[in-house]
Amino acid sequence: MTRSSNLFYQSRLARPMLDRAEGIYLWDTSGKRYLDGSSGAMVSNIGHSNPRVIEAMKKQLDKSSFGYRLHFQNEPAEKLARMTAELMPEGLDRVFFVSGGSEAVESSVKLARQYAITQGNDKRWKVISRFPSYHGGTLGAVALTGYDPLTKPFAPMMREMPKIPAPLCYLDQDNLDDEARGLKYAEMLRDEIIAQGPETVLAFIMEPIGGASTGALVAPDSYYGRIREICDEFGILLIYDEVMTGAGRTGKFVASEHWGITPDIVALSKGFAAGYSPLGAMVAKSDIVDAVLDAGGFLHGFTYAGNPLACAAGTAVLTELQRLDLITNAAAMGEILKSELTTLMDRYPFIGDVRGKGLLLAFELVSDRETMVPLPKGLNAYNRLVDLAYERGLIIYSRRTRGGIEGDHFLVCPPLIINRPQIDEITATLIESLD
Ligand code: PMP
Repeated sequence: MTRSSNLFYQSRLARPMLDRAEGIYLWDTSGKRYLDGSSGAMVSNIGHSNPRVIEAMKKQLDKSSFGYRLHFQNEPAEKLARMTAELMPEGLDRVFFVSGGSEAVESSVKLARQYAITQGNDKRWKVISRFPSYHGGTLGAVALTGYDPLTKPFAPMMREMPKIPAPLCYLDQDNLDDEARGLKYAEMLRDEIIAQGPETVLAFIMEPIGGASTGALVAPDSYYGRIREICDEFGILLIYDEVMTGAGRTGKFVASEHWGITPDIVALSKGFAAGYSPLGAMVAKSDIVDAVLDAGGFLHGFTYAGNPLACAAGTAVLTELQRLDLITNAAAMGEILKSELTTLMDRYPFIGDVRGKGLLLAFELVSDRETMVPLPKGLNAYNRLVDLAYERGLIIYSRRTRGGIEGDHFLVCPPLIINRPQIDEITATLIESLD
């Protein structure tokens, strides 16, 4: 085997070399233009090469790029924590910075555990999660992730956590109405807590709207409130993994706002610094944080956490999110894009479902819309459609999973700065590719 590069990623997939990016477009070194229909991996919420963010980062770079957090406080970190707390639902006001989504998830779980210890609940350590789900690539986050191909090889190296089914309601063939179905899935958490022994359960973690795991799956409204009630009933912390749904993606700053839910801890990353710097945050209620700090401190941290350059990028990104009113735009453009995708169902009987909120949207391809039987695996639809769109200059994001069963779903999640003509461009290219 000849070696073409010293660099390696997950696979031998060769893609063109990136040259530059601006707004919702990227160009490769041959000059070909691509519409970023998935914001990278749901990251570039404010679009590429925003001049105000670049300017803010340059200014910070001229002053200082790194100051170790145990040696100095820094103003960008203070400011970003203030801005984040103002944007979060009331009560979530203590912010801990990290460098990515997996770190934000791990921090949430470790804070929960240390809080339980301060409350004399040493026996509480199990974090229930869902199947399917995605919570990150580090071993602690893998233990929470419900997706066998990514987790099974590592099973002997970690303590796998209990899982309950995610509410894949659109596949259910029963006659329940939406509300009853939401409650049915929420009660599975209660059953699992009882089966595990409530005195051993520390927390429940969920993506409020599934991302790569379920393809923009939104649960019935009744699900969210009932989950909060069940956690409260047993004194279990509720952790929302908003790594993908946060920073305006779904038409609210965080998705929990759609249901008026206040989780105890929230993990943020991706759109939070929108690709301008590796950055994430854990946001928690102050009584949890104070109990841990008063008991001697939070035994956790990462070297790059809260560095001034990353925080200057985050501050500028959140400023742009507000100045350009991008959360409102995400809600408005999301409605239009979702209705365009839904219209495609008339033309293509093999589109089985269109779902999502704001600009976290997905469609799923099936053999039969009535029974939702998936396309044959050999068809390789999830790769082929992505490649056909890519050839035509449109980037979308696909997975062939819906839990333990097969299913080709495609996330269509452009930057929140998108406008109507650009949505039409996405739809036109999708039609060419689907044809
Ligand atoms: N949680 C969710 C919901 C995610 O979508 C991701 C990334 N796809 C992560 C956690 C992990 O984030 P990172 O890759 O930045 O570590």
